[in-house]
Amino acid sequence: MPSSRPTQSFPMIPRGLRTRFAPSPTGFLHLGHVASAIYVWGLARKSGAEVVLRMEDHDQGRVRKDYETSILDDLAWLGFKADAGVASSDKASDYRQSDHWSRYENALQNLGDRVYRCQCSRKEILERTGKNSEELWYDGFCRVHNQGPNIRLILDSKPQTFVDGLLGEQIQTASEQCGDLLLRDRDGFWTYNFAVTVDDIEEDISLIIRGQDILAATGRQLELREQLGAKEQPLYIHHPLIWADETKKLSKRDRSTSIGQWRDQGFSAADIVGKAAFQVGLIPSERPIHATEVEDLFHV
Ligand SMILES: [Zn+2]
Repeated sequence: MPSSRPTQSFPMIPRGLRTRFAPSPTGFLHLGHVASAIYVWGLARKSGAEVVLRMEDHDQGRVRKDYETSILDDLAWLGFKADAGVASSDKASDYRQSDHWSRYENALQNLGDRVYRCQCSRKEILERTGKNSEELWYDGFCRVHNQGPNIRLILDSKPQTFVDGLLGEQIQTASEQCGDLLLRDRDGFWTYNFAVTVDDIEEDISLIIRGQDILAATGRQLELREQLGAKEQPLYIHHPLIWADETKKLSKRDRSTSIGQWRDQGFSAADIVGKAAFQVGLIPSERPIHATEVEDLFHV
C-alpha cells in the first residue's frame, strides 16, 4: 500500500474533545457523508476525541425509519464505529432527536421573552421583504402580535466571531443573515438550528466537524448557544464538499449514488472510503483506504 503524507494539519485541536457524526435519516448514505465521516473519525482518532453518533431526525415530516436502519448498516459496513450514541451500548433515545421533545421544550423556556409566535408563511415573508439575500430574511413582523404556529427568537444585532480550523477567522451577523431565528415551524417540528444547538450543548460536544454547506449557520448557532447560557464555544472545522472542486468534474452519478448501490456494484468498503477521500481532496489519486486508516490522512 503506497503511503502518502497527510495533506491537512490541525495543530489547534487539543486532546480529549468530544465530536459527533450526525446524519439525517431523510435519505440514504452517499459519498458526501463518507467524506464527512473521514474528517470526523480521522481527526477524532488522531486527537483522542470521542465520536458520538447522533440521529438528526428532527424533521418528522421527511424522516423514514428504513433510512435510519440503512445509514446505521452502511456505517457499520464501511467500518466507522462510534464511541457513544445511537448504535452503541448507550440508550439510543439519548441521541435521537425525535426523543428529545422535553429537552427542546426546556431550552425554549430558558430563552424567556425573547421568544415569540409568528404566523407568516414563507410566501408572505417574501412578499414583504423581497428576496435580496441568499436566504429568507425575517423582518420581525409578528413581534407585537405574538400569534401563530411558528416560534421565533429575537437575535442580537451583533457579530459572532469564531476561528474555523480550516478556514480561519469568520465573522457572521445572524440578525442580518436570517433575521429572527425560526425555532419551531408551522407543522410543530423543531428546526435544524435549534435542535442541533441544544443537542450540542446537552451532549457536551466540543469539536464540531461538518461540511462547508453549514458554515453560514454557525453564527446563529453561536448566538443561540449564548442565549441558552452555554459557557464556551466549541472548536469548528467546516470541511470542503466533494463537489466543491469543479475542475475534478465529479459526475452527477457519483454524487447521487447511495453507498448501498456502490456495494451492489462490487465496490469494497475501502474502495468507497478511498473514493470519498480523493473526491474531497485528501489524497492526490484514488486508492482503497480502510476506515481504520483515515487518521493517517491528518496531522494534529
Ligand atoms: Zn410573522
